[in-house]
Amino acid sequence: MMQQYHALKREAEGCLLFYRMGDFFELFFDDARQAAAILDIALTSRGEHDGQPVPMCGVPVHAAEGYLARLIKAGCRVAIAEQVETPEEARKRGGSKALVARDIVRFVTAGTLTEDALLEPRRANILAAVCEVRGKAGIAACDISTGRMEVEECAPDDIGAALARLGASELVAPEDWASAPDNAITRPRGDFGSDDGEARLKSVHGVATLDGFGQFTRAMLAAAGGLIAYLDHVGRGKLPLLLPPVAHSGSAALAMDEATRTSLEILQSQQGSRAGSLIAAIDRCVTGAGARQLADDLAAPLMDAAAIEARLSLVHWLHDDPLLRADLRDVLRSLPDIGRALGRVVAGRGSPRDLGQIRDGLAEARRLRDFLAARPDRPQLLDSILPHMGGHGHLVDLMQRALVAAPPTDCGQGGYIAAGYDAALDELRAMSGNSRRAIAAMESRYREETSVAALKIKHNGVLGYFIEVPARYADVLMQPDSGFTHRQTMAGAVRFNSVMLHEEAARIAQSGGHALAAEEAHFEELTAQVIEARQTIAAAAAALARIDVAAGQAERAADGGWCRPAITQDNCLNIEGGRHPVVEAALARSGERFVANDCILSPDDRLWLIGGPNMGGKSTFLRQNALIVLLAQAGGYVPATAATVGLVDRLFSRVGASDNLARGRSTFMVEMVETAAILAQATTRSFVILDEVGRGTSTYDGLALAWAAVEAVHGTNRSRCLFATHYHELSRLAESCDALSLHHVRAREWRGDLVLLHELAKGPADRSYGLAVAKLAGVPKDVVARAKSVLDRLEKGRAETGGLAAGLGDLPLFAAASQLQGKDADELRDHLDTLDIDALSPREALDMLYELKRLA
Ligand code: ADP
Repeated sequence: MMQQYHALKREAEGCLLFYRMGDFFELFFDDARQAAAILDIALTSRGEHDGQPVPMCGVPVHAAEGYLARLIKAGCRVAIAEQVETPEEARKRGGSKALVARDIVRFVTAGTLTEDALLEPRRANILAAVCEVRGKAGIAACDISTGRMEVEECAPDDIGAALARLGASELVAPEDWASAPDNAITRPRGDFGSDDGEARLKSVHGVATLDGFGQFTRAMLAAAGGLIAYLDHVGRGKLPLLLPPVAHSGSAALAMDEATRTSLEILQSQQGSRAGSLIAAIDRCVTGAGARQLADDLAAPLMDAAAIEARLSLVHWLHDDPLLRADLRDVLRSLPDIGRALGRVVAGRGSPRDLGQIRDGLAEARRLRDFLAARPDRPQLLDSILPHMGGHGHLVDLMQRALVAAPPTDCGQGGYIAAGYDAALDELRAMSGNSRRAIAAMESRYREETSVAALKIKHNGVLGYFIEVPARYADVLMQPDSGFTHRQTMAGAVRFNSVMLHEEAARIAQSGGHALAAEEAHFEELTAQVIEARQTIAAAAAALARIDVAAGQAERAADGGWCRPAITQDNCLNIEGGRHPVVEAALARSGERFVANDCILSPDDRLWLIGGPNMGGKSTFLRQNALIVLLAQAGGYVPATAATVGLVDRLFSRVGASDNLARGRSTFMVEMVETAAILAQATTRSFVILDEVGRGTSTYDGLALAWAAVEAVHGTNRSRCLFATHYHELSRLAESCDALSLHHVRAREWRGDLVLLHELAKGPADRSYGLAVAKLAGVPKDVVARAKSVLDRLEKGRAETGGLAAGLGDLPLFAAASQLQGKDADELRDHLDTLDIDALSPREALDMLYELKRLA
């Protein structure tokens, strides 16, 4: 057994091995230690290996799913080794001591789940593959629970951002690739060939060319190859549902890097939960598929004004017609998740219930299509959505005839094919029904014949049908010519058989077996038809999800008094009465009111520097405007009274390091790496929010860097930007930066207490209120009093020396570029232009440096 175990364990390639033994999956050695710790189950031992007891733990097969879910959550991958023959078969093959053959039937990994119980209904489950081909990164991703697949090519530096958008739960990469992401599972290099990838895609979709699906680069195909090879490996040769790949173009979507996504808490909060995230605050979808689509929309907002307007028009239509919206949502709410049912069917784990769900979902989709198509005022987007919701008439009709109204999840018992669908099946059922009636009649006849009123004919899994009488009547049936043969003596009862019962039971078994086989054949046929139609079924599911998203957005907007944003190509942002949906909801729970604020940015006033006390609402204001941009470009209404959003190409959000301590890297380093990324990538069409950047280091460094960063964003990147800071000194930037203006969150001291108004006003912040905030936070009175006297000293010092910003007034406008001017600069440039560095000796190079130094 240990030999077999070790062979399977090698095949499991680093996965935990679930080794089937009877009614348990057992784990051994390190697997057992690891699993017992995660699952909190007993670690025992069994036998010896190399003289040591073998650690072991096990989980019952019938409860395995729950344990699997916990192991997967904890980051494990599991290989399931099943018994692939019965003990009898093993004995026949190899004698009485033969070991039952076992084989790994599948791998369960975070990215390849299809079981409903292991999946979250409102979240896609993404598996991604990434690799590099000739300097380009290729990424392929799929959600096998619905079959959606996309591929993307990007610069190797942008892999992090692309993966952040996808939010994959499992990632694979070639084994010999030095820059593979740390969390990737490595697979053989050979899996990631672009020719192979192309061939695999063609064979999956049965096409001679991929042209019909779009244009794919080498890197995309290589990644797709790696992805499909991994799926093939995990499914032991059985591929799950894969729809034709869609090429994702980075330039079609609003770009956001990982730090931005994390800090805006789009799909999950910084604690990693859905609660407290943007999506949790806006998701009113009534179907899981809708919620998954909404998450996609928010992860990749659009850049194309026409596409955004198309989505907005649909939301608008549903927003302005509450009755229509309510009706629609009622219908959608009752819909089964046909996308995921389809995923299970194609993966070979479909049940009659899944077919029933697909049937009901498609039937409902068709009714919904007719209903919406009859509305002359429908927005244009529906004209491209509705056709996908019909066209399955034949399949629906077939399944309506073939399946009972509520088919079971389990095939084994039969009973899911409807009466009247197959005459031969009906006959078999009638036969076993007749036999059952015959057995009931036999029971009463035997009671009469034996005069044992307590006689019963029963059935169990071991004996089949048998006759049972209480022990004290056993003698009656024991008579040699009674026609009964003894089978079993129990404590209070004795069991018998009779020839007639045996014959009738055989008839039931036979017709029942035939009936089951007939049902199974129908099930396979229906499954094949569903698989054949997978693309159009998936398209119907996607269409329903899109409608659900729009109806949910409309509902949310109507609920919260949100508005339809106007989308323009100008570099402006004009938000009146903007609110932060998450903070507003949190305040509402404690009965507080959110103070709405305006944000008006234009090319001439594109950078707002925002000061004011801690806790005054600066971060909230920054984020709400970024979220409004994101929501608008995702094609939804926004929490404001009016909003005009000039299309944004890249969104950046950065939070000063001390809010972000848990990241491992030096906090200041993180701040600077992230700031550097903005300065390198932000364009005039970008929107940047910087919250207390420069805080992760000493005051002078921090101020200096914040100063330089603001100057660069203002003068070089020329992006729209909101910059929150507590450095008063930065307000002097208003003197040199013409498109920068000063703002602050208002606060008042009232009878010695600080009152935060959370209201944005023009002009610099007058003072910092730090001590008042400390008091508000419950710092003891004497400490605050002591701090006050220290502060007075410091401020006196500042008044005398000019303070932190002393000397900054003399700093030329564009420091780096302008320090050299006129003739000197020209001379220096000429000098540099004529320089042939490769031709210089070290000595000459040194002389040259002295010369340059002199010129400068
Ligand atoms: P800062 O960045 O200035 O320190 P925050 O934006 O973190 O302040 O806000 C602190 C708290 O103030 C928030 O958690 C929220 O409870 C409250 N707050 C912020 N903005 C508003 C607002 N516009 N209306 C009402 N309360 C607000």
